[in-house]
This record gives sequence, C-alpha cells and structure tokens, in this order.
Amino acid sequence: MAVLLTHKILRPACLWLPLLLGACAMHPATTRVVPQPKPAAATPPVPQPAPSTAAEAEFRSFVHDFRQTALAQGIAPSLYDLAMGGLSPNAKILSLNEAQPEFVKPVWDYLATATSPLRVRNGQNALAGQEQALSAIEARYGVSRYILTAIWGMETNYGSNIGSFNIFQALATLAYDGPRTGYARPQLLDALKMAQQGGFAPSQMPSSWAGAFGQTQFTPSTWLAHAVDFDGDGRKDLWRSVPDALASSANLLSEEGWAQGEPWGIEVRLPDGFSYEDADIDIFKPVAEWRARGVRTVLGEPLPQTPQTGALFLPAGSRGPAFLVYNNFKVLLRYNNASAYALAVGILADRIAGKGEVVGDWPRDEQPLTRDERLRFQRDLNQLGFNAGKEDGVLGRQVRAALRAYQKEKALPADGFATKALLERMDGELASPK
Ligand code: CA
Repeated sequence: MAVLLTHKILRPACLWLPLLLGACAMHPATTRVVPQPKPAAATPPVPQPAPSTAAEAEFRSFVHDFRQTALAQGIAPSLYDLAMGGLSPNAKILSLNEAQPEFVKPVWDYLATATSPLRVRNGQNALAGQEQALSAIEARYGVSRYILTAIWGMETNYGSNIGSFNIFQALATLAYDGPRTGYARPQLLDALKMAQQGGFAPSQMPSSWAGAFGQTQFTPSTWLAHAVDFDGDGRKDLWRSVPDALASSANLLSEEGWAQGEPWGIEVRLPDGFSYEDADIDIFKPVAEWRARGVRTVLGEPLPQTPQTGALFLPAGSRGPAFLVYNNFKVLLRYNNASAYALAVGILADRIAGKGEVVGDWPRDEQPLTRDERLRFQRDLNQLGFNAGKEDGVLGRQVRAALRAYQKEKALPADGFATKALLERMDGELASPK
C-alpha cells in the first residue's frame, strides 16, 4: 500500500494499489493458484530433505530462527511446528512479491469491473441472504449494510474467492526475504497468535498470497485488534461465518471513526473556471466552503447541509467525474489505503442500495502511462525544478503536488493528473530549454 510499507497498514489486500493509481489491478484476492499441500502434522524439528537452492536454505534458516521469536511471545512449540514445519517458499508468491506492474489500469476500467452490473446484482442477493445478520450488525455498530456488503463483494466476491494459499507459507515466504519483510514478520507472528487464541487448525486457515484471509480479507493483526464473534459460537471465524466476518469489518470501521448515517461521498459538479488547486483527496474543507465556491451535486442541486468536512476527489483529473468525499471515505481508507478502492466500495454500496450510476464521463481516450513513462514523468518534473521526490514509478501525493505547481506555472488546469500529453510537453521543454 501507499509508498508501500511506509504507511500504517491495516491490511495488505492491495499491496500494489498505489502503483496502480490506487487501483487494484493485481488484487491478491483474484489470484488463484492450486492449493499447496499442507505440511504433515509435525512434532519437533523434523529432519528436512537437503535444500535444493540457496533460497530454500535461507528460508529454512529463517523458519528455524523465527521459532525462538514465536516461542518467546508465548506460541506453543507444538503449534509452531505444526504450522511451520515442512514449509518451503512459494515460487508464485516470490514472483508476485517482486513484480513491478508495467501498466497502470485506468481507474474507469477498475471501477467498471469492481461495480459491474453482475456484481451489483450478486450483492443485492448476498445482502438479502444475510438480511437478519446485517440488520443486527447495523444496529450494533452503526455501519451501513450496503457498505459492508460492498466490502464483502470487493474483497472476495461475496465469499466465492477467499484465497487458497496456506497463510503460514504465504507470510513466511514474504517474511524471510524481499521487500516486505517489515510487513510480513509481525503478521506471521500474529497469524500464529490467531491460530492459538482462535483455536484454528493451521491447515484450516487459507489466505491470499499476501496473507489476507476470510470473507472480508482481514490480516492477522486486524483479526487480533478488531475481530468479533457475532454468531455466538465462541469463535471469531472469518472464514466460515459470514456474520462474524461482516461484524468484524463493521467493528473495524466503527473503531476507526465511521459516522453513522453519513454518506461516504457524493458525485458533484464543479462550476466553470473552477480552480483545481484545492481539489485533492487530502484537502478537507467545510462543505459550506465548497458550496460557496459553486460546487453543486452532479444533478445541479445545492450540496446537502452537513457539519462535515469534505475533499474533492477527481480520480481521472479535470476531464473526469468529481466526487465530494466525507470523513467516512477516510475511514474506508483505513480498511484499505487506496483511494480507488474506497471509491469502488462507495459506488458499489450505492448501486446495491438501488442508486444510479456515476453520471460524469470518463476520459477514456487517455492511455495509461507505462512504467518507463511514469519514471520519466517524475524525472522530467524533477529536472524542471518541481520536486517530485524519488523516481520510483509511483505517482503519489508528492508527484501530484509537483505536477500541480508545474500546471499552475503553465496556466493549465492544476488537477495533478498525469497524462501522456503532459509528459510529451515536459519532454519537449527539456529537449529545447528556453
Ligand atoms: Ca462465531
């Protein structure tokens, strides 16, 4: 997630999201592989076959050393050996862990998949099937049933895709080496704690390749912090109990500050000549101020009265739809720190509730920048004297700010949205400096 592991991570379902303009093109929940064979129930250190590669030797040494860490944290030796004995690194996960996406999926393509008519219809059916539980969950936690159903749909397609990796193999593969050890090691420890506290057999804990699990793809640390037993059987079982999973998500959102009865956001229309400088997902202002600056609903009505603050979110720049997002949108980002994800949850929830589609047109003629182009975009900004930070191919907050400054200097709409046309313009300026 956001320049990856530097941000607080609640859950890793979309580790690659920020690379994707906040879009979830490589959502691990959609990554299906053949289930790995489970380790045989092992008692103390089982003799291992000779490692076939240096990586396997390194992995075994990690599993061996991590045992001390786990035992010091109160994990029973028998549980550790059962969960971790006989594992080897998963090659599929190793390659996903190193992947650098070549293309950023345009946000409109991401949303089209995330909120497709089929997913809306399936969501309405899924909600109907859990009506009783969702009513009770809504009453207890104050979180909208539509939002919870949308999260369920986004994460696992309403439980039809909960992942088929062994959570211990997945997290150990990410933990022993590579760019995500800082994320995976505490999660691995928490997965062991979860097995011990929750009474789960290690072989009954499937996950995504990044270690997110269950109907709503929690991480072990979010399970420890927020999971609840809602169906009353004494277990917080997010794999096999839909009420437990939905209530745990509701509890997480509630504890992160969800405002009951408030929307996540609304689609808006900006007045002609609007200055885009403050139209940024990170710039929250009183709704009254946006109203005074001429922002109206997309249908042209005055903005609803609310004491809340809101931010203008233009996921495809000034040529695409605009949304006014409220505090609850920020809470959705605590669930998964990718703005396109939070937007998809909000739109899917509205559609399941019977509201209309997004009205504004997307700039579908814009081609996504390749990785090389994203790197060049950052380099061009830096060379032109606008501080775009580290050239890593991730067009995040600092790049948006640098681009806005450039656009402002050139009297262009300062929307901070990177396009091929802007890249070519900067290339041209650098080729023939004035
Ligand atoms: Ca339960």
